[in-house]
Amino acid sequence: MSGVLGLLKGLGVTLGQLPKKKVTLMYPDVQPEWPDRYRGVHKLMPDLCIVCNQCARICPTSCISLSGTRGEDRKLHLETFDINFEICILCDLCTEVCPTEAIQMTDTFELAEYNRDAIYKDMNWLTENGKQHALRKGLSLESTEEAVEQNNQLEGNA
Ligand code: SF4
Ligand code: SF4
Repeated sequence: MSGVLGLLKGLGVTLGQLPKKKVTLMYPDVQPEWPDRYRGVHKLMPDLCIVCNQCARICPTSCISLSGTRGEDRKLHLETFDINFEICILCDLCTEVCPTEAIQMTDTFELAEYNRDAIYKDMNWLTENGKQHALRKGLSLESTEEAVEQNNQLEGNA
């Protein structure tokens, strides 16, 4: 008798869930929507970077490496920027310290690869990730240029 009661109780729990909103998605056909402050894989806006190295210095796992050269305008310009996502813990510290917001987190979360080298992402990949993020969020790609302008004004005031 107690077995039947247990079965009915279990069925009651199952049936009680049927009218509720589903928490699962038909991934990957349906992609999840993350909150605005979700800390996914970074995007980079190289034009904004002033090669100050603060992101690399604060990174607790030392997974950022970058280099730059001084241009004819006497400013430093970014040449290479790599993040090793094998050891990045998506802590957000690098974006917090970046004075120009050249590096930011996005809602990109898929990084599965068949070999470890492919998880090492370079400047082009990070820039393209920013474009894909903007498309997903319906953001204007011109926002980068607006941000560059603001940055130039800041530099002019400095
Ligand atoms: S999110 Fe954290 S671990 Fe990843 S690159 Fe930035 S500072 Fe380093
Ligand atoms: S902190 Fe920002 S501006 Fe400085 S090197 Fe890193 S990405 Fe470039």
